[in-house]
Amino acid sequence: MPSSPRHYLSLGHFRGRLTLWFGGLSLATLLSVGLYVGQIATQELEDFGGQTLSISARSAADLLASNLEERDKEIRLLRQIPAFTHGDLRAPQLGKQLDLRKQSSEEYAWIGIADLQGRVLQATDGVLVGLQVDQRPWFQAALKGPYTGVVHEALLLARQLPQSAANEPLRFIDFAAPILDDQGRLRGVLGAHAHWSWVTQTVESVVTRSASGRQIEVLIADKSGNILYPYKQLGKSLPPRQQRTAPYEVLRWDDGKAYLTSMAEVTAATSVSLDWQVVLRQPLEAALEPVQILRQQLLLFGLGVALLFALIAYRFAARVSLPIEQLARAVRHVERRDAEPVYPAGRQLHEISQLSGSIQSMTAALLRHEHQLEALNASLELQVRDRTEALSRANQALERLATIDALTGLNNRRRFDSRLVEGFQRLRRTGRGFCLILLDVDHFKRINDSHGHQAGDEVLRQLARLLSQCTRVTDFVARYGGEEFVVLVPDTQSDEEGLAVAEKIRQTVASAPFAVAGQATVSLGLSQALASDTSAAEVLERADRALYTAKQLGRNRVVTL
Ligand code: GH3
Ligand code: MG
Ligand code: MG
Repeated sequence: MPSSPRHYLSLGHFRGRLTLWFGGLSLATLLSVGLYVGQIATQELEDFGGQTLSISARSAADLLASNLEERDKEIRLLRQIPAFTHGDLRAPQLGKQLDLRKQSSEEYAWIGIADLQGRVLQATDGVLVGLQVDQRPWFQAALKGPYTGVVHEALLLARQLPQSAANEPLRFIDFAAPILDDQGRLRGVLGAHAHWSWVTQTVESVVTRSASGRQIEVLIADKSGNILYPYKQLGKSLPPRQQRTAPYEVLRWDDGKAYLTSMAEVTAATSVSLDWQVVLRQPLEAALEPVQILRQQLLLFGLGVALLFALIAYRFAARVSLPIEQLARAVRHVERRDAEPVYPAGRQLHEISQLSGSIQSMTAALLRHEHQLEALNASLELQVRDRTEALSRANQALERLATIDALTGLNNRRRFDSRLVEGFQRLRRTGRGFCLILLDVDHFKRINDSHGHQAGDEVLRQLARLLSQCTRVTDFVARYGGEEFVVLVPDTQSDEEGLAVAEKIRQTVASAPFAVAGQATVSLGLSQALASDTSAAEVLERADRALYTAKQLGRNRVVTL
């Protein structure tokens, strides 16, 4: 399996992939749930914040309205006490009355009485007494009826009243009413300046109770949307409303930021309708801060859970892939035979146990088959060796049969022919000659005829033994055919050596007793191979002629040519 390392790699990847998938999926799920929850929470929180703002704005507006009504009513009632309607408007106890009134309510900066010409007759702390106020709007309005006036900066009083702490000019809201006698005749004007800070504190007090730390701001604007409070926003306008009836809206203010905004009209039943609006605004960012926190917490929680899931997935993947890796290793060992295979042990997933079991039984079966094949192979090899040996033996036998004469056990004619050619070639190559002796049994026919063919065969066998005895191992003896034999004597310079051998043979045969035939003689023709001979046949032909001559000359002799 050449791709084994890749297997491990991919199994390693399997672990990583599963971990990433689980982690990613859980993160994606939690994030989408988080987004959804965040969306709902945003809407809910926006609505809740808006409704809260709306309630606060409403209560601030109502509180302000009732306070304004109270001041308005107070001035209207004060001018009706007998000291105002009958008495001398310059009487000192009237001044005292005003002082007491001012001391009882901190909201008043100044209360005074002016005559019909606008000259101040009485005033709290004697401020402005003797001065002309006939040009003041409150005086002019009060000549005709009760008046609640717009906010304005202190003109005459500024110099005579203590400055406020902040760098803001003193601002007042005016309440005034005509002083009439019993017949309804105008006697003078009762006027009061209430501190603007009293108004603002009234609304602030409602808001601060409910808005601590939530960056909620309170503003007061007039009918046409011009901001009256806070001072730093003075001169600016409210952003236009989109839905008049909605309790709250998200509006973009002139600073470019979005605010959750709620406006409530101050519907005070005062002498002159003020038509103010109490406006509460909260940066949308601040209103939705809990959602941001919730989102962050969800994100953190999501990351934590994703990490946990990834860890669980990793453990699970490891539980799956480790035994598979172990199996792969075991199979590799089986394949390479380099170590004993170690299969996953202990508790595994059911499928992995099954896989492991299957692989083990498959491996065992394969190994069993392999062993059987090896055994078969070995027996086949043994058989082949046996057969090869038998064949080789048969070949050797064939070879012997092909070169050995069956009757005498001497070399046969075929073998002789090749030896003769070899001897002639050697003569050509080295110049070393040889002697050829051709031998024929004399009157063999008679032996056959007289003693039978068996006896003739026995003569031939005995003759073969005699020939072997009379020659050296280096000599070559063969049966030429029938009762003719041939002897090759190697390395001879002349026919003398051959003649000696031939003569020895003739004498041995002639003197040898033959079992049935009794006596036998042989005739021998001899020729020495010469350098002048052109072929081996020439040497043979000469020996044949010599043999013929020997026969002619009377047999039992040696003739050389
Ligand atoms: P000579 O050579 O002296 O002239 O007389 P001969 O009787 O030997 O003459 P010939 O060559 O005509 O006879 C040879 C005989 O040898 C003929 C044949 O029947 C016999 N012969 C040949 N081969 C065998 C053999 O293998 N066994 C036996 N028993 N006889 C054989
Ligand atoms: Mg013959
Ligand atoms: Mg013969």
